[in-house]
Amino acid sequence: MSVRLAHIGIAVRSIVDARIFYEEVLGLKVEKIEEIASEGVRVALLPFPGGEIELLEALDPDTPVGRFVAKHGEGLHHISFDVPDVRKAILAGIEHGVETVGEAPRPGAEGREIAFFHPLFTHGVLIEVAGPKNDAPVSHVHEQD
Ligand code: ZN
Repeated sequence: MSVRLAHIGIAVRSIVDARIFYEEVLGLKVEKIEEIASEGVRVALLPFPGGEIELLEALDPDTPVGRFVAKHGEGLHHISFDVPDVRKAILAGIEHGVETVGEAPRPGAEGREIAFFHPLFTHGVLIEVAGPKNDAPVSHVHEQD
């Protein structure tokens, strides 16, 4: 399976504060900031050749990222890889007793399917896999029903 680094997700208390290091010291640039209401998170994307830094700020303390920051403080939250087929990756995980977090696959940005592998099974880091962009109408999602 060919994988590619998609992004490195870093949980922060404040994107406004955190972006200063990545922009002023590393010379990256926030390309876009978006709120993903379903995940309770505001995301800032700072691309670089071969990947992106994804700063994650909780919209509410009672969200996955909010709880993460309360428990661990700011820090590495997940690493995301582009994979050709998320469902295949999930099945490979099942074969090896690797559990996912939450619903898998589930819809991500840009019509992608995404899944998260639990850190308990990945040697300590939450690993996200994201399928190809899909600009087709969302109706195809129901084919599996
Ligand atoms: Zn991510």
